[in-house]
Amino acid sequence: MRVLVISDVHANRAALEAVLDDAEQFRYEAVWCLGDLVGYGPEPDWCITRVRLLRERCPLTALVGNHDWAVLDKMEVDEFNPEARRTVLWTRRHVSAENLAWLSDLPVDPVVEQGRFTLAHGSPRDSIWEYILDPFTALDNFQSDALLTPFCLVGHTHVPVIYALIEGEPVVRVRTPVHDAAVQLGGAGGRRAILNPGSVGQPRDGDPRAAYAILDTERLTWLPRRVPYAIEITQAHMRDAGLPERLITRLSFGW
Ligand code: ZN
Repeated sequence: MRVLVISDVHANRAALEAVLDDAEQFRYEAVWCLGDLVGYGPEPDWCITRVRLLRERCPLTALVGNHDWAVLDKMEVDEFNPEARRTVLWTRRHVSAENLAWLSDLPVDPVVEQGRFTLAHGSPRDSIWEYILDPFTALDNFQSDALLTPFCLVGHTHVPVIYALIEGEPVVRVRTPVHDAAVQLGGAGGRRAILNPGSVGQPRDGDPRAAYAILDTERLTWLPRRVPYAIEITQAHMRDAGLPERLITRLSFGW
């Protein structure tokens, strides 16, 4: 089965549209969305509706992320930095009651698909909050009871990466995926892996293009994709909405 894997859309409509257009060519049969549909960006309601509608095309598994969680008023916004807090409060006023209800029904804890793939926003240990930013944190997760499947898909850091556990020794190899270069999973590079597709709506690896991945669950291939989109359209909408300037500027640089 070919799965479209997206994460951290962050209310960026132009980026989401570009990703969905690009992904058409792969004739995906399921969508796994790893959280943070909203926060930061200017079109939260549109983005939630668009992802919800994907259910009419194929099975959709979507998780809640820390920004979604905050917009749902399930946590104190004081835990966010001032700019993120401002956008959380703005977002609450710009999502319909129906879409908020849909968001609040999404799972908070990790979800296992096909018995082999654990899906989480941050990490299997702490799906809402933990960032897997280094091989040590990845190793802790590989060794934790929260991760019992060979593969794990996470978002949250906005950086595309693969952490592969080397068999027989507690060593994690870090690999930066390259656009359109398929990675074979489960082979010599490590039988277990934690995979991050990067962020659709706010990349932070220095490449401003939208990021996503196509996972083939039978062939066990992971295809990282980068897609250019009309950044200036999102930025114009952010300005109109009065969202923080730093959040607008960073989209140009992918930081
Ligand atoms: Zn995020």
